[in-house]
Amino acid sequence: MKKATNEIKLKLPALSINEGACRAMIAAFCAQVDPNIEELADIKCAVSEAVTNCIVHAYGGRGGIIYITVGIYEGRLIRIEIRDRGCGIADVKEAMQPLFTTDSTGERSGMGFSVMESFMSGLRVHSTVGRGTRVSMWKQLS
Ligand code: ATP
Ligand code: MG
Repeated sequence: MKKATNEIKLKLPALSINEGACRAMIAAFCAQVDPNIEELADIKCAVSEAVTNCIVHAYGGRGGIIYITVGIYEGRLIRIEIRDRGCGIADVKEAMQPLFTTDSTGERSGMGFSVMESFMSGLRVHSTVGRGTRVSMWKQLS
């Protein structure tokens, strides 16, 4: 992939209170390429899902750090990478199936990855057990 024409990096504690801040900061940064309301809502939703997964799954609610990179590329392409150094995922393919969840409290529906996949133009997940997970997604604006 070509070099981003503009980029931000965020590094913040994996606390649920930071979820809204991540959404807002990423949306503010993306505003420079004039996404329409729907595109912006899609991006915010996908970011929420990825960030929530870092907080609740990767670090099990015990904190840790979330690393985010947002890049803007020629041709109105936005790429967002959300990374953690948490527990990792043993079987990424299985984890990405709709309705698959390891949650036993009944609070989660197992739809996070499906939301990211449908709201963005592309999604890639790379994970190593014990080392962490990297979610890379991109959106081609109209
Ligand atoms: P929902 O997102 O609907 O609340 P969910 O989080 O369980 O439910 P997904 O977001 O699709 O559903 O994630 C599926 C499963 O993948 C999770 O239950 C969890 O086991 C695993 N997972 C997702 N993200 C991470 C992560 N960053 N670190 C470790 N495990 C993860
Ligand atoms: Mg989730």
